[in-house]
Parts: sequence; structure tokens; C-alpha cells
Amino acid sequence: MTSNCEVHSGQIAATACVVCAKPLCAECVVQDGTNAYCSEDHRSVGTSYALLASVATWAEAEALKANLRQANIDATWYCRADNVSSYGMEDAESTMLFVPRPDVARANNVLSALNLLPSNEGML
Ligand SMILES: [Zn+2]
Ligand SMILES: [Zn+2]
Repeated sequence: MTSNCEVHSGQIAATACVVCAKPLCAECVVQDGTNAYCSEDHRSVGTSYALLASVATWAEAEALKANLRQANIDATWYCRADNVSSYGMEDAESTMLFVPRPDVARANNVLSALNLLPSNEGML
């Protein structure tokens, strides 16, 4: 699977932002250790928040966020659609739900107690 950089059309994207999944070429990437980000903004998200789950739609992410808020966990989500004017079906699985790093274990407990935690790792 290769995508092109959205800023530099014609450049093959070498990686993708770990926060919003936007494809990034070598010129665009903000590298922090092993993590790649599309911007300084998303780098600061990546350092204070941890990825909890990725879901198919932002509506799903919003529902999980509402459940987490009831447990006083301040979740947030990002998706590529924020960054692109049009996107195809192959990008549907790219809404990422983040929670503050200290709340990761608690957020996992909240969602698994509600049977809401999407199992998206290695299922294919
Ligand atoms: Zn990003
Ligand atoms: Zn680029």
C-alpha cells in the first residue's frame, strides 16, 4: 500500500502521522524518536496522549469519547479527514481515539467493562 504525500503530489509518502494517519513524505515528517508526526501540534498530542483505539468512523469515536467522559477521562480523537478535502473508502479505518497517558489503563477498563473496546489489532 503506497500513498502520495498530500502536500507534495508526486512524492511517495514514506510514513504516516501516528496521530491522524496523514501520509507524509520525507520533507513533511516531524520525526520524534521512532514516531512520525505531521506537525508540531500533533507531536505534542503524541507526547501527552496515548492511542487507545482506532475506529472506522468519527461517530464511533465520539460515542467512545462520551463514555470516557462519564468516567472523567478527557479523550480526544483525530482523523485524516481533518487534513484532506476528499478521502476514499480505504481511509475509513483512520479515526484514532487518544486518552491522556496517565489514564490509559483506566480508559481500557472503562471500555472493556462496557464491551466497547474495538479489537483492531492483528485481526486480518
Ligand atoms: Zn497528524
Ligand atoms: Zn510532503
